[in-house]
Amino acid sequence: MDQIRNAINNGATGEQLAALPIPATYRAAVIEKQDVDMFAGVASGDKDPRKSIKLREVPVPDLAPDEALVAVMASSINFNTVWSAIFEPISTFGALTRLARESSWAKRHDLPYHILGSDGAGVVLRVGTAVRNWKPGDRVTIHCNHVDDQDPSAHDDSMLGANQRIWGYETNFGGLADLTVVKANQLMPKPAHLSWEEAAVNALCNSTSYRMLVSQNGARMKQGDVVLIWGATGGIGAYAVQYVLNGGGIPVGVVSSPDKERILREMGCEAVIDRSKANYKFWNDDNTHNESEWRRFGGDIRALVGEDPDIVFEHPGRSTFGASMYVVKKGGTVVTCAATSGFMLEFDNRFFWMRLKRLIGSHFANYREAYEANRLIAKGMIDPVISQTFQLTEVGEAAYQVHRNMHEGQIGVLCLAQNEGEGVTDHELRAKVGEARLSRFRR
Ligand code: NAP
Repeated sequence: MDQIRNAINNGATGEQLAALPIPATYRAAVIEKQDVDMFAGVASGDKDPRKSIKLREVPVPDLAPDEALVAVMASSINFNTVWSAIFEPISTFGALTRLARESSWAKRHDLPYHILGSDGAGVVLRVGTAVRNWKPGDRVTIHCNHVDDQDPSAHDDSMLGANQRIWGYETNFGGLADLTVVKANQLMPKPAHLSWEEAAVNALCNSTSYRMLVSQNGARMKQGDVVLIWGATGGIGAYAVQYVLNGGGIPVGVVSSPDKERILREMGCEAVIDRSKANYKFWNDDNTHNESEWRRFGGDIRALVGEDPDIVFEHPGRSTFGASMYVVKKGGTVVTCAATSGFMLEFDNRFFWMRLKRLIGSHFANYREAYEANRLIAKGMIDPVISQTFQLTEVGEAAYQVHRNMHEGQIGVLCLAQNEGEGVTDHELRAKVGEARLSRFRR
């Protein structure tokens, strides 16, 4: 593996990389099937990913004709790594078993360990015999939409594919490792002005926010729209703020600390609500809402921007969903992709139908959407929101920080890359974007 790393760092050609031997095993951050019950009886917030995520040497899988073997220079921690590591809401081993039923190649995924990670930036080492657009030596980022291209239901919007899956969550061989096996249609060009870790943190969250707000499959934000963004300095929220500002909208960012408020203001988001300071109590208890608190929240938004939100970017779920559905403008849209605080949601339907609101469910992004979102990063129009970088040996600690909401933006993980800052090839664009923007989330 040192040979591969050195060759990449020394600018080896594709032919030279293709000639290097692939080692029999590689390092990977995994959870193990034998551990799925290790948190039985433990409250969700106390389940500790540091106990379940392990670093193991694993065998290199064979390469299917439509796949690429990629040397992962860096990856990132997404919330789905937390879900896998605490075995909630379900163990991901079930998904691997179901995938294995689909074909002889899919059988490889059903293993007693699950290699996590749904982001990555690196260099292609090998391609399968059916791969046309990529070759050894290509510098890539990887998006996580794993699609069966022989499935007719995947040929309008591939997120509607009957067996669409998220790589590194519902498939094995994820990105938190020195090598990964991905479908060729997960590959996108690496933004040349970014380091490996900066390039690795974007694809999952950036593409998700793009689909939710910009794509025709999402809320179709237009100029002047007021967009309420929960968790506005979190993984998806920090990209959402950038899309709203780029698109001529008016973001209202909700965060929970003065530090996060400062980052938002530096990004150009003028309307900010600190939910900790405001201390909203949307629920009286586990079962009853407090409508007067929804009104107070709506009043705070109007005080900032003079009107109700056209769009609410929703993902906290149970704790905020009733309020989101209440405050969105008459005829407005709530777009949701998650339910971090609980997935059984409640809202008052009277305000929904009488005010002709719309609710859109959204999930990751199809290849086209991910590619468009990656293009905006590559042009320096959307910035990575990396706050910290961990080593592959520290994935458990990094996932713990995300689980406990101790982070801002995205956390990068160095895999084959040993130092931060490596991998930049377009220094001119980097200088034009500027270190201030690229390090806005850095601690
Ligand atoms: P993240 O980096 O942890 O950010 C989420 C932010 O939401 C937190 O930083 C927090 O910000 C806010 N938040 C958390 N709990 C809250 C609550 N009870 N009330 C109000 N705000 C709350 O996570 P992320 O990467 O942005 O992901 C957010 C969710 O989306 C996760 O559940 C993730 O699994 C999901 N997701 C889904 C997709 C998809 O394709 N479906 C893709 C990406 C992410 P403050 O404390 O500052 O308010």
